[in-house]
Amino acid sequence: MSDEFKQIRVVCPVCNKQVKIDIPVFIVDESQEGVAKVQIPQGACCPDHAFMAFVDKKFKVRGYQNVDIEFNVDRKEKPGDQKKVDIKNYSVADMVDIIGPDICATILRVVLVHIPILLLETYDLYEQVEKMVVVLRSIGSEELPVSIEKVTKDSLPERRKHYHNFLILVPMYKAIIQSPFEKNINTRFESSLLREAIQLPDPASQTMLLRKEMVKVLKVVDDLVKVLRTTEKLYEEEIPGYILQKFNIQFDVKNIDVIRHIIEVKYDKMLATKIISKFADFLT
Ligand SMILES: [Zn+2]
Repeated sequence: MSDEFKQIRVVCPVCNKQVKIDIPVFIVDESQEGVAKVQIPQGACCPDHAFMAFVDKKFKVRGYQNVDIEFNVDRKEKPGDQKKVDIKNYSVADMVDIIGPDICATILRVVLVHIPILLLETYDLYEQVEKMVVVLRSIGSEELPVSIEKVTKDSLPERRKHYHNFLILVPMYKAIIQSPFEKNINTRFESSLLREAIQLPDPASQTMLLRKEMVKVLKVVDDLVKVLRTTEKLYEEEIPGYILQKFNIQFDVKNIDVIRHIIEVKYDKMLATKIISKFADFLT
């Protein structure tokens, strides 16, 4: 199966370096609302930055998204040839190397809100997609259900008829062709988890760290939902202190948007709007 390619012009949103990159036509054709999100990995455009480019039907880049932490991690062990890593030794770090940090971070958010993930299979000599499915499932647990499977290009239209709300990725081309979220989300929180995880030496501890940290967040969210159901409003600024006191977990106030987003998608939009900043409350 060969794919037709088109060239896009990418400009790094941080340092303005430009590069031309070939992307397969079907990624844009299959995209929801005609915009594909393509991960530009560190080293592809400039040596220092990884970011996402939004590519429209005319193969023009319409915008960029980059998380505000840089992902250039000096890993002790560079994966020599992660393509050939067998399934038992395939790690979160290998997955980040293949599909890029921003797409991986988006996957984690989608898992947190418990929305299914479809991985579109393309030519894949080393069964990378299958390995990703195994790694992602291994992050899951009873408390953190992960729903993920591979699909073929041919079966995609049929799948789309039955479900609308899922994340569809094309792993081998580092692209998101359908997002379950209405707006672009900031995945700063998930990126920092990933960064922490891939520093760990072995695959099992990488998945364990992600599971542990994500389960913590879900527990906090569950609790906050109960609180919000009986409260008129909750101040952002007071949430970290509450979490520390009740769960003994340090939670950065910068990451309240993660909590709000999970509540909005998984529970109830109205509940999420009860989380407000003191400053905003003062203005009204
Ligand atoms: Zn750059």
